[in-house]
Amino acid sequence: MVPKTENEMKGLIAAVRQLERIKKRARALGIFTDDRELLECSGCGLKEDVTFEGLLMTYDKNATLLEDSGLRFNRIDETSYACPACGAMVRVEDETTIQLVEEEEKPRKKIVF
Ligand SMILES: [Zn+2]
Repeated sequence: MVPKTENEMKGLIAAVRQLERIKKRARALGIFTDDRELLECSGCGLKEDVTFEGLLMTYDKNATLLEDSGLRFNRIDETSYACPACGAMVRVEDETTIQLVEEEEKPRKKIVF
């Protein structure tokens, strides 16, 4: 869709700016804006998740009750986070890891030649 008039273009720019403001406010409120993969600590099993309301939360993956622990991973740099529970370094999954996860989730089919 290409905006036809100048007014439509202005409307589009205003909408994009508004979206940026909303995202900024959402992050401040603790809402996960989907800018990165969810983290999981391999050291202690603390896992990030997003609630039904879109809020970022963490919980122990071995816990039976999925309640927000109140802990948040501390960002070190673009790809590294520190686990707030045990201090272990957690790296954001790169594309190869994501591909592997996706393959695992697909139903397994037997390939017959
Ligand atoms: Zn940990």
